Amino acid sequence: MNELGISEEVVRLVNEAEAECYEEFLKIDKRCDNNSLKVLSSFQRNEVTESCFNETTGYGYNDLGRDTIEKIFIDVLGSEDALVRNQFISGSHALTVCFFALLRPNDLLLSISGTPYDTLHEVIGIKENPSSLKSFGIRYDEIDLVDNDFNYEAIKEYLTNNNVKVVEIQRSKGYSTRKSLTIDKVEKVIKMIKEVSPNTIVMVDNCYCEFVSDKEPVQVGADIMVGSLIKNLGGGIAPNGAYIAGRHDLIELCGERLTLPGEGREVGPSLGVNKQLLQGIYMAPSVVASSLKTAVLTSKVLEKMGYEVEPRYNEVRADIVENIIFRNPEDLIEFTRGIQEGSAIDSNATVEPWDMPGYTDKVIMASGSFTQGSSIELSCDGPLREPYIAYMQGALTYPYGKLGLMKAVQKIMKGGK
Ligand SMILES: *Cc1c(COP(=O)(O)O)cnc(C)c1O
Repeated sequence: MNELGISEEVVRLVNEAEAECYEEFLKIDKRCDNNSLKVLSSFQRNEVTESCFNETTGYGYNDLGRDTIEKIFIDVLGSEDALVRNQFISGSHALTVCFFALLRPNDLLLSISGTPYDTLHEVIGIKENPSSLKSFGIRYDEIDLVDNDFNYEAIKEYLTNNNVKVVEIQRSKGYSTRKSLTIDKVEKVIKMIKEVSPNTIVMVDNCYCEFVSDKEPVQVGADIMVGSLIKNLGGGIAPNGAYIAGRHDLIELCGERLTLPGEGREVGPSLGVNKQLLQGIYMAPSVVASSLKTAVLTSKVLEKMGYEVEPRYNEVRADIVENIIFRNPEDLIEFTRGIQEGSAIDSNATVEPWDMPGYTDKVIMASGSFTQGSSIELSCDGPLREPYIAYMQGALTYPYGKLGLMKAVQKIMKGGK
């Protein structure tokens, strides 16, 4: 037993597993090196100075820091343009702004990765809401994945027979049982879409995926992509916000929708967050690497304990999320409680499954985070339904991720495993 009450047995198991992960860790470090190079060179090229930390208030005209942050996102994401704002409440809000910016009454939106993320159901009108896209006469359809990949034939046929304005691709799995979509699959399907229907806008929900692969969706043909700053690119430091990156004309439309037509991107006070957003993107390569190492280690440890995991420790990853398929509610609850106990904030809280708005089943969540709801910090959640999957992600540093994992493993070992 050490100061955290972690048994020798757990320490031994986790250390053994860690030794088997080194090859994967080396690959993660290599990508972290490349991403750090991209970020640092962009800071220098864009001449980040202390005056970028200054805030604007009121309308927020001439915000040097805000405009510099957007230039840095353009560089590191390889996009033509970007909108990076604290006026976005969350990733879901940025996705909403993007939909309303691109779609007009009678336009058709097509999701090709099955039903989108839960928070978008009322936005699209899959679930009734008087302010949905549907209420404005925007039509929606979806095509499911088959065997964790796009249904190329069905997509091709649909695009040939319908005038689709926007195709949406969600890379990360959300609370589904499918795999997340690798950048190679995204590249392949975009190529096909552009051949069949060159004017269709391809929009990617890139939440949890930034800095995980060598390329981002806009570098493999996507027109526009969206992500949250309380995930990967906020580096655990951004207090809120989100980004939209892609084609200049589309980013302009998003700016007009986020604020107001006519003022668009010229307004939006940074209210003192510029330094945190800059520090966040600066830390992001390393924080994403820590999260990935924690995910790889978790995968290896839980597999050694006899649980089903996805992805396996050495599989190509699309995002920072690790699933443990527990197949019983007790282990899911105990494991999640262990993650909470291994956090720096609210470690003495006992998390319980609860009824969350927008979800049919009860959900259990561990998020002992500095920033409310941040899931680039070590966190774990899952709906209480078959097959009882834990969705674990994040860790600001790998050592903290490893300690949190040990606490969680200990909780499920006590059951006699
Ligand atoms: C997290 C997430 C979102 C929404 O992000 P929030 O910042 O929580 O609103 C959207 N899509 C996917 C796939 C996500 O994982």
